[in-house]
Amino acid sequence: MSPELVSAEPLLAARGLTRRYRGSDVPALDGVDLVVGAGRRVAVVGESGAGKSTLTRLLLALERPDAGEVTYRGRPVHPGRPRSLHWFRRAVQVVPQDPGRSLSPRMRVGEAVAEPLRCLRVAGDHRARVAELLLAVGLDPDAATRLPNEFSGGQRQRIALARALAPRPEVLIADEPVSALDAAVRLQVVDLLREVSDAEGVALLVVSHDLGVVAALCSDVVVLAGGRVAEAGPTDRVLTDPVSREAHALVAAVPRLVLA
Ligand code: ADP
Repeated sequence: MSPELVSAEPLLAARGLTRRYRGSDVPALDGVDLVVGAGRRVAVVGESGAGKSTLTRLLLALERPDAGEVTYRGRPVHPGRPRSLHWFRRAVQVVPQDPGRSLSPRMRVGEAVAEPLRCLRVAGDHRARVAELLLAVGLDPDAATRLPNEFSGGQRQRIALARALAPRPEVLIADEPVSALDAAVRLQVVDLLREVSDAEGVALLVVSHDLGVVAALCSDVVVLAGGRVAEAGPTDRVLTDPVSREAHALVAAVPRLVLA
């Protein structure tokens, strides 16, 4: 693991994560170690079937590993009753892949952004917090009274980001956060994710098959292949001078990688 990954204060960590699905003789995940340090932006990349989604589900305590452990600030995180995980859900939030599908069409934007505050029993003035969040993601606070279908795809992803930021998480997990968006707005949302992460000091774990997004957004990269970590290190080093065969193959598959 790269010194950068290790030197930041560890928040979300996986140790030896292993997951076997019934009926499959090869594990989907096989002894994966990973650390998301405070304020770091870590990308998980790898070909389809590498285990990225499985890793994300385990890190979010949506599934139980067969071996290994997920910890948050050193405290073990086990899937269980929602109430028992409130502390973890406040700390680690998800930016959805497709905000068109994750936002309920009949719920007003203000209500949708405030929902995690209500569900996680976060104290304070929720209406004021919603207005602050909408501004932070570049929307007019008047958006609160409108419905999601009145917004474009890029704006809906801003709403989804505001919702994820509502309980003041320390880590955001984003699985392909811009893949459902038009190319033209992709860059705007990537910029916004980077700005918000800097401004709020939120760490990001980004799963993406798009190395351009990874290069523009992430400080560190973990390359998954066949359920194992093939390589991990600073983004610029891994993308320009990959050591492992798997990282090499990923980088070589991109015709001209423009590094930010
Ligand atoms: P990625 O997100 O990198 O495409 P996945 O985590 O989805 O990879 O899949 C890793 C491996 O686990 C694949 O071989 C996939 O077929 C298998 N897999 C994933 N989810 C399930 C499941 N619910 N049941 C059985 N096999 C699964």
